[in-house]
Amino acid sequence: MKKILTLVSCALLVITTGACKRKKYTEVVEVPLPSVEEKLTIGSPDDVKAESGAFELVELPFRYDALAPNIDAQTMEIHYSRQYLTFTNNLNKALSRTDSENTPIKDILKKLDLSNTELRNNLGGYYNHSLYFEVLTPKGGAAPADTLASAINRDFGSFDDFKVQFRDAANKQFGSGWAWLVVDASGKLQITNTQNQDNPLMPRSEVSGTPILGIDLWEHAYYLNYQNNRKKYIENFFRLINWKKVEENFENAIEK
Ligand code: MN
Repeated sequence: MKKILTLVSCALLVITTGACKRKKYTEVVEVPLPSVEEKLTIGSPDDVKAESGAFELVELPFRYDALAPNIDAQTMEIHYSRQYLTFTNNLNKALSRTDSENTPIKDILKKLDLSNTELRNNLGGYYNHSLYFEVLTPKGGAAPADTLASAINRDFGSFDDFKVQFRDAANKQFGSGWAWLVVDASGKLQITNTQNQDNPLMPRSEVSGTPILGIDLWEHAYYLNYQNNRKKYIENFFRLINWKKVEENFENAIEK
């Protein structure tokens, strides 16, 4: 009976669509799923260039994945090639409408009109990220040496005491902002925080001075890898600090 029913059904289908002529299921084509590597194509920092203007991005002398697992490749790529690039392009655009295009960035920061939100955010965003990317290295983590080591011992007691204070300042930052190691006008080292993209060179800073080391505490700097565990990101940041570069920044800051 079943056989007869099947034959009848097929006969009807042949008449209407011709569907029983072939075994169609043999023609199903498998579409391969993209591999993990294909889905997460990580580009190269060398390909990121700012649009023409007064400022360029600082070079990242390593690949986006070089800081993993302390900072993952995707976070680095988004941070450098999108966020930092956007600040740079926006700053160049904003400055092209003013007469300070050829003024050194520190002077623009010191004379900044804080009510000019567009310039404040992009100027800070550019300066802060330039410093952040400059002091990161896959070969970080050693202690500072020479004059910077002496200054840290002089102003914080010891390198370990400095680390405790810097970590505390970073951990206590509420919401988006930065924690800094700063050289003040008298050459003394101080630790401070700023909100949003502000920094200690801007007018009316709680602690004024030249930042020589900064940690980005915006969620975009760590969230993909650490989610809400900012404390762990702050802890691991110490493994990535290029102390040679921080010392260079220190020497430049006390010369002036
Ligand atoms: Mn950032």
